[in-house]
Amino acid sequence: MIPERTTRTIHIRDLPLGGAADIVVQSMAATPTREIDATVRQVKLLEEAGADLVRIAVDSSADVSALAEVRAQTKALLSVDLQENYRLATEVAPFVDKLRYNPGHLHHHEPNKSTRDKVAFLVDVAKEHSLALRIGVNAGSVAPEFLERYGKDGTDAIVQSALHHCEIVDELGFVDYVVSIKDSDPRLVIAANQAFAAVRPDVPLHLGVTEAGMPPDGVIKTRIAFEQLISRGIGDTLRVSLTVPFDDKGMEIEVGRQILADIQAGRFRSVPPNFFDGLNIIACPSCSRVENSRFIELAQEVKRETAYADKHDLTIAVMGCRVNGPGETDDADLGLWCGPAKVTLKRGEETVGMYSYDEILPKLRAELDALIKNSALSS
Ligand code: SF4
Repeated sequence: MIPERTTRTIHIRDLPLGGAADIVVQSMAATPTREIDATVRQVKLLEEAGADLVRIAVDSSADVSALAEVRAQTKALLSVDLQENYRLATEVAPFVDKLRYNPGHLHHHEPNKSTRDKVAFLVDVAKEHSLALRIGVNAGSVAPEFLERYGKDGTDAIVQSALHHCEIVDELGFVDYVVSIKDSDPRLVIAANQAFAAVRPDVPLHLGVTEAGMPPDGVIKTRIAFEQLISRGIGDTLRVSLTVPFDDKGMEIEVGRQILADIQAGRFRSVPPNFFDGLNIIACPSCSRVENSRFIELAQEVKRETAYADKHDLTIAVMGCRVNGPGETDDADLGLWCGPAKVTLKRGEETVGMYSYDEILPKLRAELDALIKNSALSS
């Protein structure tokens, strides 16, 4: 059974979210937004799979023009994902139903303007166009002042950043908002969302394990977090993030609905023994920002080519773009983020080099072998 939730009910147009409303299942288009036909097909594919809401990334005026065309061809509820260029909100607002901003990306533009003023700008746009808002905090891109104050470890920085933004939005007299606090580790997703809900039981929560990676591990990580949270009455909308080709994106909706049905029926899956031990591959689910379509294939190859290191407690992160790739690979032992022609290889926060898509796998293996050798020497 899914217990009663304490959150207030907000609306995305006529879709209720929070409180006694059904849990909203959503996903994100993975096609380049400027490829209008492909993006319309992607929105339809997600709708047909049962999505209540579809998110689209917009980073430029060209993306906004494409979004207007997509809007004209679908009645689906659309959310837009704004990252660094938060001012695009005014341009996208006529074509969408919800805006998502990331508190960790607001400092990039207009550094002399206060966070409060930037949030006020977004809230004004939301009010004027009757849009809902998501404050989307992500462990891979936390606002620098929160990292300085609370450190990288644990959940304090992400939870406090979310709470701070709620205060700002509350002071601006806006209530139609939802919060997400995501990490690639389901245990931290559980801890962060529980901590947030204990302080703000009124604010609807969007659940997700970011960069969960490829099935089956990506599904297992997501299920661990959703079972623990939703069975405690935490979570009003969810997004499953899986690294799969964009023609298979309906799987994210199907998995989300299946997990909800299982929780409702009291069917809980046991976590496979030693699931959190050994090699951990995290990979982003891809979105419009992917700059080379070989990303998904590369993520699958990384998984295959590194399987020999299965017993080692190491994390390899594979990310699809330069927007979130550099930050979201910092915490991994080895990280790869994809550009148009080159893949950047990192060891922790340090860049090892940039390599073509044909060169990257041997380079990755060499780095992995060196890490394993060093850890054997030091143990
Ligand atoms: S890392 Fe980049 S490509 Fe991957 S989901 Fe995030 S924004 Fe999209």
